[in-house]
Amino acid sequence: TEKAHDAIVIGAGAAGLMAAITAAQRGLRVLVVDHANKVGKKILMSGGGRCNFTNTGTTPAQYLSANPHFCKSALARYTPWHFIELVERHRIAYHEKELGQLFCDESSKLIVKMLLDECATAGVEVRTQCTIERVEHLDDGSFRLHTAQGRLVTPSLVIASGGLSIPSMGASGFGYTLAKQFGHEVLPTRAGLVPLTLTGKHAERLQDLAGVSLPVEARCNDTSFRNFMLVTHRGISGPSILQVSSYWQPGDDLRLDLLPGIDAEAQLREWQATRRDAELKTLLAEVLPKRFAQRLCEHWIASKPLRQYTPPELRGIADLLSSWPLIASGTEGYRTAEVTLGGVDSDGLSSTTMMSRHVPGLYFIGEVVDVTGWLGGYNFQWAWASGHAAGTALAA
Ligand code: FAD
Repeated sequence: TEKAHDAIVIGAGAAGLMAAITAAQRGLRVLVVDHANKVGKKILMSGGGRCNFTNTGTTPAQYLSANPHFCKSALARYTPWHFIELVERHRIAYHEKELGQLFCDESSKLIVKMLLDECATAGVEVRTQCTIERVEHLDDGSFRLHTAQGRLVTPSLVIASGGLSIPSMGASGFGYTLAKQFGHEVLPTRAGLVPLTLTGKHAERLQDLAGVSLPVEARCNDTSFRNFMLVTHRGISGPSILQVSSYWQPGDDLRLDLLPGIDAEAQLREWQATRRDAELKTLLAEVLPKRFAQRLCEHWIASKPLRQYTPPELRGIADLLSSWPLIASGTEGYRTAEVTLGGVDSDGLSSTTMMSRHVPGLYFIGEVVDVTGWLGGYNFQWAWASGHAAGTALAA
């Protein structure tokens, strides 16, 4: 049995590597183990291969959690600017895409390389293809890991094994099972930042529009996101839909404002005053993608010359355009979801150290915890911040 390490981190993803680097820089001998054949697979595939590594506008308001206060301390102590400083020190070129989202100019490989270089400098040992068969809690409070590569004993154990999204990339329910083994509550998990599927008449009417994209404001459960929506073969996607999907559950009312930022009724009245003889579908095609406008007028709105509409009819059309009800049948699930909502209940953890309240020396960080960010670099920022909090606490 190996006892050479002050701390072992399970999961060589964003959170685990950050925790390991932070603790090792403070003098600890840290080992990171991962069952995958290489580290940081999700970092590599993130942001379309360019890794949206943080968001300069990060605040606790962009996170979903049963306890919305839990993420505050870690986010305040390790900010986007700390990570940007690291990126700049490694001379990685980056740019803001929109809404504070920072991406690598070249490739997300540079972020993984940066983390591995930091690991090497700090003396972190990383072992891949190391499956953990089980974890025992010993009488002296330490942890014994039975792995495919032998037994390991450590006084501190950090669980950074991530969520359930993209099983083909090594995602597993390991962290949840282990949390339960150690007496932690695990809140129900579901796919987040995920395309929604449609069935019935919406699906039939929209299916052949796959590929059409338009700006909308998607609204669900008092939360709204203004950005693009994309019609897919199975339903709807695009940033506004991915964002709102984290707030949607089967049966919930979902509405789309198809003319975000435009007062639909005022627009219709203006058309009625100035372009009386034009047909509604022609005018709608000036403010919506043409095929989408046509489809709306085939199935949802009776198109005729503007002068023929009565005021109540115009009001009805305005309501439909500004609050189009869509009945989603489900999500595409973990296969394509960017994140997993729910997870290890933060009530069982210290918000300053990420350490278990029940089991001293046991930590949970990153996506395995019930903290889920919006689309736009917030999930990595949580991984860095929670990893940093645990790494600091380990060495304290
Ligand atoms: P992960 O990065 O998932 O790391 C977990 C590690 O644990 C993995 O290496 C895994 O192999 C290992 N592991 C799992 N189970 C075991 C086990 N049983 N034994 C040993 N090891 C195990 N977020 C952003 O902020 N910006 C983006 O641009 C972005 N793009 C994304 C694109 C895609 C396609 C996906 C799927 C997600 C994206 N995300 C993005 C979300 C982000 O990748 C995650 O929130 C983040 O990686 C979570 O970090 P983590 O360290 O907690 O988990």
